[in-house]
Order: sequence, then C-alpha cells, then structure tokens
Amino acid sequence: MNAPIQPATIVGVIGAGTMGAGIAQLAARSGARTLLHDPLPEALERGTRRARDGLAKEAAKGRLSAAESDAAAARIEPVDDLAAFAPCELAIEAAPERLELKHELYARLSGEIVGPECVLATNTSSLLVTAIAAGATGPERVVGMHFFNPAPLMRLLEVVAGEQSSEAALALAHATGEAMGKTVIRAHDGPGFLVNRCNRPFGLEALRLLQERIADIETIDRIVRIEGGFRMGPFELSDLVGVDTGFEISKSFFEQSFGEPRWRPSPIQAKRVAAGLHGRKTGRGYYDYSSDPYRPPDPDPPADGAGAKVQPAVGGVLERILCQVINECAFALGEGVGSAEDIDTGMVLGLSYPRGPLAWADEIGLDHVLAVLDGLCEEYREERYRPAPELKRLVRAGRLGRTSGAGFFSYEAAP
Ligand code: NAD
Repeated sequence: MNAPIQPATIVGVIGAGTMGAGIAQLAARSGARTLLHDPLPEALERGTRRARDGLAKEAAKGRLSAAESDAAAARIEPVDDLAAFAPCELAIEAAPERLELKHELYARLSGEIVGPECVLATNTSSLLVTAIAAGATGPERVVGMHFFNPAPLMRLLEVVAGEQSSEAALALAHATGEAMGKTVIRAHDGPGFLVNRCNRPFGLEALRLLQERIADIETIDRIVRIEGGFRMGPFELSDLVGVDTGFEISKSFFEQSFGEPRWRPSPIQAKRVAAGLHGRKTGRGYYDYSSDPYRPPDPDPPADGAGAKVQPAVGGVLERILCQVINECAFALGEGVGSAEDIDTGMVLGLSYPRGPLAWADEIGLDHVLAVLDGLCEEYREERYRPAPELKRLVRAGRLGRTSGAGFFSYEAAP
C-alpha cells in the first residue's frame, strides 16, 4: 500500500488580499512555513497583519493556545520578491481574477522559480483551472484549491482537477487542505466547479418565478426561508453578493457553456444593474436598505423544530426552485463533476443549505422530482427544464429514494 500523502511543509501564498491573507493564516496554522507575497508593499503588510490577527483571535476564542497561535504567526514570512518561493512544495495563488495576470505569474513561477515537484494551486472561482494551467511549465502540477470566503471560517475546500492535473498534485492539495482543518471535496473543472454550479438555479429559477409574476420578491424569499429552512432567500442573498457581481457570474456561465439554457441570465438582472440597483453596497437592490430592518422578521419556528426541517412534500415556489437545484446536481453527477456525497457536503458546508439536495431528493421521491420537471418541460417546452439523464435513469431503475431503499444514495434496511 502506498504511504499516505503528507501535507506540504513549505507553502507560498501569492496575493495578500481578502483570500490570500486567510489562506496564509490557514497554512501557518497547519504547521507549514508560510511565505506570503504581494507586489504592493502596503497590501503585503496589511495581509500579514490580518493573518496574524486572525491567529490571535483564534487563541482568544480558545481554538488555539497562545503558544500555538504565536508559533503559527511566526511561521508567516512576508516576502516582497516572488523569487523567495524557490523552496515551496505548494504555491497557492490568490491574485486578481485576470487570466493574463495569472498566466504571467504561473509562467514565471514554474519556469524560473520553483522546482519541478512544486504543486501550483489557484484559488480562482470563475476561470477554468485548465485555462490557467496553460500558462505553466508542467500543467499537470496545476490544480484548483477553491476556498470560500471567509477562508479561515468556512469549512469547505473544493480541490479542482483541471484537464491535465496529476493525481499526485491533487493528493497534495487535498492533504494540505485537510491539514488546514477543511472538509475537502473533489470537483472536475468546469464553470463554477461543483458547488457554485449546482447552486445556479437557486437564483435563476427565483428570477424566473418573479418574471412570470408567480410571486413577488418578499414572498419568494420568505417561502425559501420558512418552508425551505434556508438562512436567506435568493433575492436578499443576491443583494449581499452584489446584483452586478451575480449578473457577471451568470453571463460567464452562459458564455463558458456555449449557451446552456439552464444558465441563461435573466433580463431582470440586466435591468437592475442598468438602474444601478446593485444591492446592499448601493443601498438598494431587490430590497431598499435605507430602512432598518429591510424586511419584517420571520415568525419564530415552532418549538418542535418542524419549521426548520423540510417537509418531504414541498409546494409551489420552493418545489420549483428545489427541483431545478436537484436537476442541476443530477446533471453535475452524471457529467462526473463530483460524487453524490461531495455534492451534498459541498452544498451544506459551502452554501449553508439546510440539507444536501440529493439526500433531499431521496426524501421527496425521485419520481416526484421527475414529474415536476416533466410538468415544467411540458408547460414551457424549454430545454431549461429538461430532466437530467441521471435522474431519469435512476427512476427507470426503480431507485425512487428512501422509501424504495435507494435513490441517489443507498439506504440499508433496518435490521
Ligand atoms: P483581492 O483584491 O482582495 O486581493 C488580491 C491581491 O492580489 C491584492 O492584495 C493585490 O495587491 C494582489 N496582486 C495584484 N497583482 C498581483 C500580482 N501580479 N501578483 C500577486 N499578487 C497580486 O482579491 P480576492 O478577493 O482575495 O481574490 C483573489 C482570488 O481569489 C481571485 O482569483 C478570486 O476569484 C478568488 N476568490 C475570491 C473569493 C472572494 O469571495 N473574495 C472567493 C473565492 C475565490
């Protein structure tokens, strides 16, 4: 048996901004010597301070002892010249999201600075890992390490395989992610990787419901929160992320997929952006933030917790959003973007879903989900609602979910 892959002991982090500072904190905490680079001296200083302050906060909260926190802080070495990355076993890039800039960095790192064994990981969230790897000497050593914001707090890490990534490079990224305390899922390269791709319909189907005036913004959000058990509805979430940012992401998915109908951006997004209604940061998006609170509070959930759990028989608005999310997950599963376990883990840990969509589907019944999609397909005659082949195959095979003993997952009969 092969010895388990050890995490990297010398990690370089490129870019000391929002993500880079958090990743440096995690690397130092994992025990690695951590080199942090940013070409802007003030950004490097700020990022180093933020990473060290983050460690001190962990000590204050009792997650680390004072001695552990001090030792980890001392492992962070700010470096103003990328050439200092020569001894790195793993370099994690968190530089601005521009392909040419990343190509330059990867060409220089791989061609002039690090050894041939050094794994190069990108924290990109919207570019293809495969496209970034094309800039490196030895694209097989390039992988995605997609951290979620805020990196020190979010439990999930997606390790993304580009077209040419080697298993050895993926295994090192995986082991290092675990040493950082993350739950690691594996994803294959593609728009949005696993988690962000599977979540596409959460916003887009809500926009469609709004466009057709099936329900208004507040009602859709309320139903998703109260009936679905989500922390936020799709419109308030969009306001938080930025309506303009969400629109750019939608356009990028649509372009990268050469026009997948499920990922078509909404004209409502375009109008809001054109009107400057960009969300919380501009004071108005789908909600008006000049008054506080921007919406009435939800009623308390019943004492038995029934409101927080999700009913197997979901109705109307929630049903349509949820069935489209499940369908997207089934497409991703069928296309080999990730395993059923990793999809569910990713949606819960990365996006705070109240439960994994595939286990949820098993609860609802796959035949019911398929019937909802078939109904939408018939009503609209749009490719957008076509059921995923994987979902149809499972239903045909009699894998209808928990009640039949198997669906996306298998359920052991009680002894
Ligand atoms: P940021 O703007 O906060 O930080 C980027 C840092 O890179 C800045 O400090 C900047 O000075 C530095 N930089 C500029 N040119 C550089 C160069 N040539 N070499 C090295 N560093 C350079 O950005 P961020 O939000 O930390 O995002 C960084 C990466 O992480 C992007 O690829 C982004 O898509 C990805 N990402 C961001 C988030 C998020 O929520 N912010 C989440 C996941 C992934």
